[in-house]
Amino acid sequence: MAKQAIFDKKNILVIGGAGFLGSHLCDELVKHNKVICVDNFVSGRVENIEHLLGNPNFIFIKHDCSQPFELIQFPELEKFQVQFQGVQEVYNLASPTNKNNFEQNVYNTLLANSLCVRNTLEIARQFQAKYLFASTSAVYGDPLEGQELLSEEYWGFVDPNGPRSCYNEGKRFAESFVFSFGRQFNLDVKVARIFNTYGPRMALNSGRMIPDFVIAAADGRDLIIFGDGSEADTYCYVKDVIDGFLKAMNYDLKGPVNLGSPEQFKIIDVANKIIEYTESTSKIKFEKELPFLIKPGVADIRKAKQRLGWFPVVALDEGLKKTTADMLGSRVLTYASVSSNANNLSSNR
Ligand code: NAD
Repeated sequence: MAKQAIFDKKNILVIGGAGFLGSHLCDELVKHNKVICVDNFVSGRVENIEHLLGNPNFIFIKHDCSQPFELIQFPELEKFQVQFQGVQEVYNLASPTNKNNFEQNVYNTLLANSLCVRNTLEIARQFQAKYLFASTSAVYGDPLEGQELLSEEYWGFVDPNGPRSCYNEGKRFAESFVFSFGRQFNLDVKVARIFNTYGPRMALNSGRMIPDFVIAAADGRDLIIFGDGSEADTYCYVKDVIDGFLKAMNYDLKGPVNLGSPEQFKIIDVANKIIEYTESTSKIKFEKELPFLIKPGVADIRKAKQRLGWFPVVALDEGLKKTTADMLGSRVLTYASVSSNANNLSSNR
């Protein structure tokens, strides 16, 4: 049983808090809590949390969580009286996610799904805090023939040795770590299996479809679709997923829970919407399907509905309009920071 906070605000740790989802989670949590955000910037960006740095209820720590750490080693946390007040909740969202440099981050991905999970669970154990791990629909692998929905009871069909196994199988191992650790040390642990999510602050250079489409449309280049465009996928808006995280953390939940949109859209329709919202003259070009990608599955969200009262509420049109506006606005800044990060990295080698 997690300790109750006897203070006016909880101390909450967000690992991977400078990332796309993590920064939105920090935005929500900081309204009523004290937030300790930890990130090593492997795929996150300071721009995502810049607006929070002056907030007295927010502290950022740059640390690679695959290295062991003690919160009391950071003097800046004295302000939150961590030694006396402890930490009540830990959200672990840390994982490299940039598809453009996936190969360079294989080792980091393995560490994120093993040592980082261990180190952050140890912090939860130290403070008897509740713990939530951000898993992925990739743990299901390819849907079986004729399988329409992926439910939490489906054990999955994943290649444990393939080129993406550090992520897909890594997340499976991480889930096993979280649940086994929770049982062994009597901790309240949760696992949210996230399906394809989009929204403002998605990294423009992440190699993901929506930012790639927005940048191509903004530059007047062709939008490249791998396949014939009739393939469908689901798209959940970031605000909905964050709402799911908060509910999963605060409700009684056994086993993993899917967080995703059950509504499918054809890729070509998404591409056309982005061309429209960016007022672009770009065309759509079709190329051969990529062989190693998992066929997207659709989330069965009955458990989230029943146990958490959760379901996505933001319509694709509304979410895409907000996302394209944000991406167009941040494009110049992001390109500048990407190239300066790249310079920093190369000078560190
Ligand atoms: P993101 O890359 O923007 O965020 C992940 C953050 O973790 C980054 O800021 C990164 O720098 C940080 N990080 C990675 N390794 C770290 C380490 N060792 N120590 C400290 N920080 C570290 O990605 P996101 O889209 O916000 O995803 C968040 C989590 O949700 C990830 O675990 C991802 O696997 C999972 N997920 C996301 C989606 C999605 O559609 N966005 C779908 C499924 C699962």
